[in-house]
Amino acid sequence: MNAGSILPTDATDVAVAEDADAYRAARSVLAAFSLDAYRGKRVLLKPNAGRCSPPGTGVNTNPQVVAAAIDSFTEAGATVAVGESPITGVNTLEALETSGIAAVAREHECPLIDMDARHYVEVEIPNGEAITHLKVCPEALEFDSVVSIPVMKTHMHTGVTLAIKNMKGCLWRRSKVDLHMLPAQDRKDARSLEIAIADMASVLRPDFALIDGTIGMEGLGPSAGTPKPLGVVVAGPDGFATDAVACHLMGRNAEEVPYLRLGAERGYGIIDLDRIKVFPEHWKSFASPFEAAPENLAIEFPDVTIHDDQSCSACQSTLLLFLRKHGAELREYFPENDPINIAIGKGHTEVPEGTLCIGNCTARHRKQGKLVAGCPPVGSAILKNLQARD
Ligand code: SF4
Repeated sequence: MNAGSILPTDATDVAVAEDADAYRAARSVLAAFSLDAYRGKRVLLKPNAGRCSPPGTGVNTNPQVVAAAIDSFTEAGATVAVGESPITGVNTLEALETSGIAAVAREHECPLIDMDARHYVEVEIPNGEAITHLKVCPEALEFDSVVSIPVMKTHMHTGVTLAIKNMKGCLWRRSKVDLHMLPAQDRKDARSLEIAIADMASVLRPDFALIDGTIGMEGLGPSAGTPKPLGVVVAGPDGFATDAVACHLMGRNAEEVPYLRLGAERGYGIIDLDRIKVFPEHWKSFASPFEAAPENLAIEFPDVTIHDDQSCSACQSTLLLFLRKHGAELREYFPENDPINIAIGKGHTEVPEGTLCIGNCTARHRKQGKLVAGCPPVGSAILKNLQARD
């Protein structure tokens, strides 16, 4: 379908297109907006290419959605580039290559930027509640505009990850991890990470959001979930409003996503669907609920107790991918009848005797168990560690 038949007029408007062709869907929602304001501007397109994962898996942004953004903003008279700073332990150019985004950029003669290559710029957050400053990739500040192009995913730590949270990929290298390591805050309605993302949005908000819901991810997002083909693309100039519409399409209420609610309360954007004009009128018919991310990783691996306290998604995905590959043989490496305990994250005061401690965050418990060092460690290091137990 074509979302461009009625043109949105207000800053809070959002357009949705459903089309089996990802490029056509993205071009369609972008055509619903006047991009004239970008003429003569330098525009940074910020997809989600945070991991080395091929197209179609729902991990990274669909390269055809990025291609559509390159074409639409270029035709509007902007000078565009595609940039990313992936999760810790992942090489930017490798992730862009594996995702298919690098090939599309080359085809469209669009520069690719490894945003980890240069030194960071320290940005103060004057009214930050959980954080007071951020190390930001310089390109995010130097370009006139940033277009956030995430893939629609559930997230084990934040419920969903969409255009606002995708801006975390503008934080420099390992400093992204700092947001997972914050002390607990004195409030019950949001965790430190969620408050920090709202704080981040006070200084790093996209100028335009283009959300790829062609193949999203449900369940164990953001990296080990199940691809969710939805066939939609959502766009708008207010990242919060665009996220709120995407949330609805995923069967979620943005008011229940703490970082979106906090940001909206502070006036960074609007998430109240009654105040957002969405095009076309029947957009809600495109919704298909996403299976939520479980709170406990052990759900998928009943014989294993995973102690996850304040880990970040890099260690989570290392562990999940490892368990998927080697979960069935894990019992061989633990004494018969002994429980299989695995710990990730820095929040543990203690862990059970014999625990497999994964990642440098668990290093202080190495005496009670066995440490697989690294931040994050690679899966092969976990296997090596287990094999060396005998
Ligand atoms: S060790 Fe793991 S949980 Fe800790 S900071 Fe590194 S990647 Fe994150």
